[in-house]
Amino acid sequence: MPELVVAGGGAAGFMAAITAAEAGLKQVQIWEATAEPLAKVRISGGGRCNVTHACWDPAELVSNYPRGERPLRGPFSRFATGDAVAWFSERGVDLQEEADGRMFPVSNSSATVVEALRSRAQAVGVQLYTQRALQAVKPLSKGGFELKGRGLDSSICCDQLLLATGGHPSGRQLAQALGHELVAPVPSLFTLRLDAQFLRDLAGVSQGSVPLELLVGGESFRQRGTVLITHWGVSGPAVLRLTAFAARALHKHQYRAELRIDWCEGASLEILQQQLKQARQDLARKQLANGRPEILQGLKRRLWLALLNQAELNPATPWAELSRQAEQRLLQVLQRSVYKVLGKGPFGEEFVTAGGVALAEVNLARMESRKQPGLFFAGEIMDVDGVTGGFNFQHCWSSGWIAGRAITANHN
Ligand SMILES: Cc1cc2nc3c(=O)[nH]c(=O)nc-3n(C[C@H](O)[C@H](O)[C@H](O)COP(=O)(O)OP(=O)(O)OC[C@H]3O[C@@H](n4cnc5c(N)ncnc54)[C@H](O)[C@@H]3O)c2cc1C
Repeated sequence: MPELVVAGGGAAGFMAAITAAEAGLKQVQIWEATAEPLAKVRISGGGRCNVTHACWDPAELVSNYPRGERPLRGPFSRFATGDAVAWFSERGVDLQEEADGRMFPVSNSSATVVEALRSRAQAVGVQLYTQRALQAVKPLSKGGFELKGRGLDSSICCDQLLLATGGHPSGRQLAQALGHELVAPVPSLFTLRLDAQFLRDLAGVSQGSVPLELLVGGESFRQRGTVLITHWGVSGPAVLRLTAFAARALHKHQYRAELRIDWCEGASLEILQQQLKQARQDLARKQLANGRPEILQGLKRRLWLALLNQAELNPATPWAELSRQAEQRLLQVLQRSVYKVLGKGPFGEEFVTAGGVALAEVNLARMESRKQPGLFFAGEIMDVDGVTGGFNFQHCWSSGWIAGRAITANHN
């Protein structure tokens, strides 16, 4: 009889199984529903796998989790970024940091991470069963569980069970059947479709350090960072972060909202007015298209021309001839452009699910159910999700490691 069955051969499931086996558990099985374990690791980060984020302080790390911020303080004080980096390095995968803090394998290939996890699992005796979906769980009165799996002729009993089935509904339904409350799943981390034809014509332009404010049903969400203009609206790290924090509100309001974009990096109205006044003198004979006050020099030229057009200004107008009325229109477009949000970006850009097993019913110091002894959780199945940048995998490594240790300690 297996001492531990891990349902779900993803990042969290492998981390838990390896940790339990390394800590001394003898019979550990992973049941993976599909033919390909670690499929999401393989496709993640555009095939490079953004393993974690160079954010070393657990107190700062938690601020990147729209769901789970406070509850994760404890788990991250036990296993956080530094531990993940060391864990992978000790198992042959060195990570390197990029300028924005994201950490990838030095090989720049997710295959390195997949191979490392698979070969380590094999080396420590973890048995991997593919195309075996966990379908039903019955707790036994003497402790342990009776499991039914797709493709199995008869049921199998195990001492302890870990659900690491990610955002898949089957795992959440099993948790619910075992007495757990579920927080309704909604998409997180997506792009925004905007009603702004003039922006669409700028597809591919990326602008850094842009303050954004999303107004959804009376609530306001703010972020600042790089925005990428797309064929349908906006994307980029700042937008993904914004939609992650606003995921629930956006879902509640059918993804109808308003997005305010400040193209002047948050400069005050006074400073902007003063710089435009100065430009009338210093750049008097230059055309609007060809000269810009210092504060606007960071704007990409294509974007600047489009904003002039939006403010109904002729780019050939000399600065000296910028009228007061025209200046007002320009200020409005630069600082207070409000775009109607029409919905999420195209299907396929939703990276994680917000929602899942409610955290109040999980002892996060052990990742163990408060409802059912011997039942554990790790990864995305729980109501935890992070912003883009390696934070979602970090939660998988942390929760998987903690669960693996606690399961082994239970057994000894
Ligand atoms: C395209 C894409 C790119 C991403 N890139 C990154 C990135 O670079 N960095 C980052 O941090 N995050 C990234 N993410 C998010 C990250 O992939 C997830 O947060 C993470 O994979 C969750 O891991 P998990 O182990 O909890 O679940 P999963 O990876 O979803 O694994 C769950 C496994 O359980 C299996 N399963 C489901 N139901 C059952 C069942 N009943 N019985 C048995 N098995 C079952 C599934 O087949 C699956 O293999 C990305 C996501 C996507 C979609």
